[in-house]
Amino acid sequence: MKIHPKITPIYQTSVFKFEDLNELELYFGEPGSRYLYSRNGNPNSDELAAAVTQLEGGAGAVATGSGMAAIFAAVMAYCEAGDHVLCAADIYGGSSALLSQELSRLGITVSYVPFADLTTNLPAYAQPRTRLLLCETISNPLLRVIDLRAAANAAHALGLKLVVDNTFATPVLTRPFEHGADLVMHSVTKYLAGHSDVTAGAVVARTPEDAARLRQIGTLFGLTLSPMESWLAVRGLKTLRLRMEAHCRNAQAVAELLVRHPAVGQVFYPGLPGHPQHQLAAVQGAGSFGGMVSFRLADDTTEAVSRFMRASQRFPFAPSLAGVDSSLSYPAGTSHRALTEEQRQELGITAGLVRLSVGIEPAAELLADLQQALDAK
Ligand code: PLP
Repeated sequence: MKIHPKITPIYQTSVFKFEDLNELELYFGEPGSRYLYSRNGNPNSDELAAAVTQLEGGAGAVATGSGMAAIFAAVMAYCEAGDHVLCAADIYGGSSALLSQELSRLGITVSYVPFADLTTNLPAYAQPRTRLLLCETISNPLLRVIDLRAAANAAHALGLKLVVDNTFATPVLTRPFEHGADLVMHSVTKYLAGHSDVTAGAVVARTPEDAARLRQIGTLFGLTLSPMESWLAVRGLKTLRLRMEAHCRNAQAVAELLVRHPAVGQVFYPGLPGHPQHQLAAVQGAGSFGGMVSFRLADDTTEAVSRFMRASQRFPFAPSLAGVDSSLSYPAGTSHRALTEEQRQELGITAGLVRLSVGIEPAAELLADLQQALDAK
């Protein structure tokens, strides 16, 4: 009996069998023709890596156990002890903690570059052994949009690689390779998988050489994603385009409601005409602005945030993002907790800052919930 499943089955196996030593030699002689051991590669993690590679328009990728593992793999692809990394100051707190607290112990140092200097004043931060610039297409949590072409030009002029975390934008909005990026990484946990039921990451390379390097790092550091998680992520990916349309549409409506509400002090959403990078975001994001909306309550206090959280029925406080169901997070207490109070103030992450992950539910239901939760204050 021949079985032809339409969907790749879950190869829930840690190892693969060989007929004899000839077959073992074929494994090493014809890379990609067979599987040996799932940490080195598995049909499911390879399917995910291939799908993300295709979406981003790269040359190859490694699927990793988390977005953090993806950042680690990206830095390890270009750096060794004694090297230096430039990192956008506006970045996921876990990324900066990895660089400042862990990679620094291995001799890879970091300097943070304020948003305004990323494209115009990069040489002021570079050192003789600076290897790369790490930034996010749309930053977490204040949704600043970086001009990727300008960042790539600035980095390349100094001989640095540009590594882009494309988690918030997704390749549906922006494909950083088209703007000059060298590596593109994702927390697949977020939009790519999309259902808040997977922890995964991916790093895609522009060149086959870098892709091979990433795969070696995945194998030797043991970062490769498991078959089951890969399978779930591949399933989620199939609806990425449809989901992103709904996320973006709903987020725009939510941002417009927030702007009008007197309990809200400031709204951060690239789709609002008043957003400082609105024009750039429109061009770079193919007319879409993403599903994340942050806002500062007019009463910029933790008590006001707690009251809002208790009143909202449709935005549970769940410190992640990008699932089909809406949620909210509190950057000062979760993603950016590792920063000092001074660093948070500098970035604008104050006590009353709330980050909404707008889901794909009927917009009217989300708007009604936010209206009542803000009115209740
Ligand atoms: N990059 C961004 C922009 C994120 O928001 C996160 C997590 O929130 C990560 C990377 C890390 O991903 P993970 O939680 O899958 O390790």
